[in-house]
Amino acid sequence: MLIYGKEIREKIKEDISKRAQQIHMSMAIVRVGEDPSSEAYIKGIVKFGEDAGVKVDIIRIPGDASETEVIKVIEELNHDSDVTGIMLQKPLPAHINDNHIVNAIAFAKDVEGIHNYNLGKLISKEPGVKPCTPAACIAMLKENNIELEGKKVTIIGRSAILGSPLTIMMIAENATVTVCHTRTRDLKAETLAADIVIAAAGHINLVTADMVTENTIIIDAGINFDENGKMRGDVSEEAAAKARIASAVPGGVGVITVAELYDNLKILSEQK
Ligand code: NAD
Repeated sequence: MLIYGKEIREKIKEDISKRAQQIHMSMAIVRVGEDPSSEAYIKGIVKFGEDAGVKVDIIRIPGDASETEVIKVIEELNHDSDVTGIMLQKPLPAHINDNHIVNAIAFAKDVEGIHNYNLGKLISKEPGVKPCTPAACIAMLKENNIELEGKKVTIIGRSAILGSPLTIMMIAENATVTVCHTRTRDLKAETLAADIVIAAAGHINLVTADMVTENTIIIDAGINFDENGKMRGDVSEEAAAKARIASAVPGGVGVITVAELYDNLKILSEQK
């Protein structure tokens, strides 16, 4: 059975629009250069803000700006009392170090939940903002009444924005977690041993039907495009059809991710 994210997204949107009438929320999206791959994502974020009644501004910086120039813009936004959340659109141009820019954002305005301070809070289980895609994976499971406590969860991918924070968040949910990556020796053995497989690697058809059982629950966080430009996840159609439950791509984790960004904005705006 395929599960979708639209209803969860709408539920979060309703909550955000109510809160936006009570407190000041305003997001600045910092965009360096004009990478076309991020255009659709930005449009989706702006549309969600418009629907929910939240002010969103895009701050455009030329692609040849230096790291120092980008940090100067971020610092101005850090001090701008009208702005309650800052998002950094990626990919950044190659000459700019993502980490330097992310950590130049005031942690109290880090809507993506990826500043080192906020990641530290995640490890120490303090309340606060959480990385959006991992939060979307967990929302997808919980909203579909899938119990996490005691479950064996295999996560494919260990990136700083997805696999690694998701590991921490799954441990906090009392799941038993296995993390796989490019050096994992037997991926199939790890997925077959799991109750829940979360694919977050960025490879079309990485998870095939022989790697799951009829009882497996799959969350597919991958966003890839095939040779015809069609959006695909990391999980093959056959694997998704065989599993007990699989999240759809498109229309699954991705649509919740934007809502989680605004949920973080709400948390930060309430703390202001
Ligand atoms: P990344 O390239 O930074 O990390 C990929 C991870 O997958 C790495 O840790 C790598 O070790 C692992 N990996 C890659 N190939 C593998 C293989 N063959 N076997 C085992 N492990 C493998 O990517 P990322 O930024 O974490 O994104 C991963 C995927 O999630 C991409 O498809 C990306 O587009 C998607 N994504 C989706 C959303 C969303 O909103 N749904 C948000 C962010 C990223």
